Amino acid sequence: MNNSEKKVLIFGTFDGLHAGHIFFLEQAKKLGEVHALVASKESVKVRKQKNSTHTLDQRLNMVKETGLVDYIIAGDKNLHGWEKMKKIEPDIVFLGYDQKELKTALLKDKKEFNFNFKIKVGKALDPKKLHSSILNKNSCVFCTNKDIQKRKITENSLTWVFPTNIPIVPGHLLVCPKRCVATFEELSKKEKDALFALLENTKTVLKKTFGAEGFNIAWNEGSLFGQSVPHLHIHVLPRKNGDAGIIKYDPRKFLYRPGSREETPEKELSVVVKLIKKNL
Ligand SMILES: [Zn+2]
Repeated sequence: MNNSEKKVLIFGTFDGLHAGHIFFLEQAKKLGEVHALVASKESVKVRKQKNSTHTLDQRLNMVKETGLVDYIIAGDKNLHGWEKMKKIEPDIVFLGYDQKELKTALLKDKKEFNFNFKIKVGKALDPKKLHSSILNKNSCVFCTNKDIQKRKITENSLTWVFPTNIPIVPGHLLVCPKRCVATFEELSKKEKDALFALLENTKTVLKKTFGAEGFNIAWNEGSLFGQSVPHLHIHVLPRKNGDAGIIKYDPRKFLYRPGSREETPEKELSVVVKLIKKNL
């Protein structure tokens, strides 16, 4: 069985999402297909002696929006039967480092109910380590630069599109996941689907706006190989018959301005955004 076939079950209340949750979900996703049981209203009340701040629907939606879980439902009302977990039949139960009581309960009931899953415990988020995507956000220009964010043309729930400030041709756009990851395989299935859906819309709108007859679509991975921003982005270049550099695919000759690639002023880029937005 490879990882993607493994059923990974997680439990959580998710009463508001923070960086620690995202880090936990990212670790779970690496182990396989993620099934989330979000604490029911009743069980929150029993365990915490008070209601959650967010409603169950809000909590389910927040987790869903991360795109990091494959299946998500509310957990059991009665905590002692493990009814929903029995239906899921997980290969792995993945616990947060702080879910100690849950771990004790699972270990205790494992024998009694004859459960076959393995229990794995995640790492805590170490703010000094920069490998986690959420932490890259602090230094990533796509995530922090206001000028770039103002350039947003459109978005869906998990991805967005904007013009690069060093375009090779007019209408040179970048389609990006909202989550700050460097490589394609770090994306969840939902994020990949969202990325391709937005890519499709982007092509349509570039045909309308710039009369594109074809496209060059590319992305670079690895700083040695041209990835200057460690936040995955797909370049979409509208092309037309007669453009330079196309026949032998020589991107260096795509330049529509003489000389080397240069930054285009924000004012000029905002015109491109307005033009394209008319055709959404
Ligand atoms: Zn980023």
